[in-house]
Amino acid sequence: MNKASTLLIAAAFLPALALAGNSTKDPDDIGSRRVDKGLNFYTISQEMALGKQLEIEVEKQAKIVDDPVISEYVSRLGQNLVRNSDVVFPVRFKIIESDGIDAFTLPGGYIFIDSGLIKLTSNEAELAAAMAHELGHAAARHATREASRRRLMGIGTLPLLFLGGLPGLAAKGAAAAVMPMAFLGISREFETEADLLGVQYLWKAGYDPDAGIDLFEAMQSVERREPGRISTLFRSHPPTSERIAKEQKNIEKLPARSSYVLNTSEYEEVRARLYDLFPQSLEAPPSGSRVHD
Ligand SMILES: [Zn+2]
Repeated sequence: MNKASTLLIAAAFLPALALAGNSTKDPDDIGSRRVDKGLNFYTISQEMALGKQLEIEVEKQAKIVDDPVISEYVSRLGQNLVRNSDVVFPVRFKIIESDGIDAFTLPGGYIFIDSGLIKLTSNEAELAAAMAHELGHAAARHATREASRRRLMGIGTLPLLFLGGLPGLAAKGAAAAVMPMAFLGISREFETEADLLGVQYLWKAGYDPDAGIDLFEAMQSVERREPGRISTLFRSHPPTSERIAKEQKNIEKLPARSSYVLNTSEYEEVRARLYDLFPQSLEAPPSGSRVHD
């Protein structure tokens, strides 16, 4: 196929792609609605197989927190969100020992959260907000949809796509050579959709959805203090005032609940344990995590 016809096909698909994220997403229908509609060259089983391969690579190269108390807690919190989401395949949550402030989602439901992001949160609802946002990417299959979109557009044929990035890994040239990994951002449209889905899942699971705003504001203040500190995912789509205002509107549309969960003593114990095991200060970002313009 020549380049002109590729572009024509791409142009024909674009309006559909643009609309893909705009369908009404009634929070009362969570779990029985399809949020992953849109162009996708990958079947779900292909996506899961790809995710598994990538997970193996990530685990080779990143330090996964294997403390049973912490990982069991984060998994349990995550599975509660999964039960209150639209995702149609199993999802796993793991923590990377890193003072970066990031999280990313591999295709097929492999979600990784920096320990630094957990440290930044100040209650369970904020941690759940970060995890629910990633779950939104998984449920809507943004990784493979973005890869499909890029392939169609001829922007790149790399089958691997990270939402966000792996802190510390991007800086290592060797790692990049070993792994044909694309540290590509995702479209703003998908990011916006993950914000919406995330806050809906947070609400559905019984948490205070305002925690999503609190988390963005905490990130914003770190970014102001230490520009470049918020790594890849939020660097390409930073929690701007506009993004926060949009999230506020998403929250206002949610049906009211009489009470919300904001925090648990278990969260406090786990967070304290993280600081005990990995005492590196939030004020000391790892080398290579800063942006040099
Ligand atoms: Zn995102």
